[in-house]
Amino acid sequence: PQLANQIAAGEVVERPASVVKELVENSLDAGADHIEIEIEKGGSKLIRVRDNGSGIAEQELVLALSRHATSKITDLNDLEAICSLGFRGEALASISSVSRLTLTSKTAGQSAAWQASAEGRDMQVEVRPAAHPDGTSIEVLDLFFNTPARRKFLRTDKTEFGHIDELVKRLALSRYDVSWLLSHNGQQVRRLKAALTQDQRQKRVAALCGRVFADHAAFIENQYGDVKIWGWLVHPQACSAQLHCQYSYVNGRMMRDKLLNHAIRQAYGDTLAPDQQPAFVLYLELEPRQVDVNVHPAKHEVRFHQARLIHDFVVSALTDALTQLTP
Ligand code: ADP
Ligand code: MG
Repeated sequence: PQLANQIAAGEVVERPASVVKELVENSLDAGADHIEIEIEKGGSKLIRVRDNGSGIAEQELVLALSRHATSKITDLNDLEAICSLGFRGEALASISSVSRLTLTSKTAGQSAAWQASAEGRDMQVEVRPAAHPDGTSIEVLDLFFNTPARRKFLRTDKTEFGHIDELVKRLALSRYDVSWLLSHNGQQVRRLKAALTQDQRQKRVAALCGRVFADHAAFIENQYGDVKIWGWLVHPQACSAQLHCQYSYVNGRMMRDKLLNHAIRQAYGDTLAPDQQPAFVLYLELEPRQVDVNVHPAKHEVRFHQARLIHDFVVSALTDALTQLTP
């Protein structure tokens, strides 16, 4: 299973930030509203994600670290088959095959916590008693220690941590109800309290997008039937190339959607000089059945069933908002 897991890991685990993404998504799936992320050496030494979610029951620990879907694949010729299958239910097994992974967890119903890790070529899972509050901690040490080719592709600690920080930023802008802690080499980099009121949300945006953004962004909100857009938009005069704040979400999921980007650009129109970039944090909300989010999950693309209508609504909502902004 180690080979199959490592092949799968090639898909799931590109760099430390991909590990953080998988772990945090699991924490969110488990209903956590507090997530702590500790990083050492850009993630190549340590990635630790702690949450206060539902936890994993003792009897499910082994399963959590095993691959279910494609465990029959044992040699590289099956690589193509794996690629077409996609990977679900195997992020932990994959990460565990290219690192030293320890999972510690406690459910509210259990009186004690348990810890599990998979060892050796056959990825035998060992379970032992441990101490841990309700929730889960996953510790990933020495990422890619046994796949030197991959380890060689890691960039500097600073660059790898930059990717992690960017990911945390995106996640924190999608889940205001969650409190986040991020540290690097023992130093706290981000501490975000749960932001439930409008004022608190605004503060989080300011903390994440920076002073210039905060000083020049205005809150906007508009609705047409079941389609709603809200968020923050920066006045064109304050938009510079250095601002670097372009975040859009569709039904809570971070997107880099062509249609949406086109609509945003069109709304700014020729108010922007060629070297200026729009700056925004925008949330589009519509009925789930009006949008297909699984077109290109990795590319963050969606398909709107009423694409024309959505596009035009966004253009007109943002154009309206921009005319009312002051620099
Ligand atoms: P997937 O998320 O696709 O099911 P993973 O390999 O990421 O696959 O996780 C395997 C399983 O382990 C999850 O389905 C979940 O049951 C459990 N799990 C992983 N992380 C956590 C967590 N932080 N809290 C609770 N359960 C978790
Ligand atoms: Mg997962």
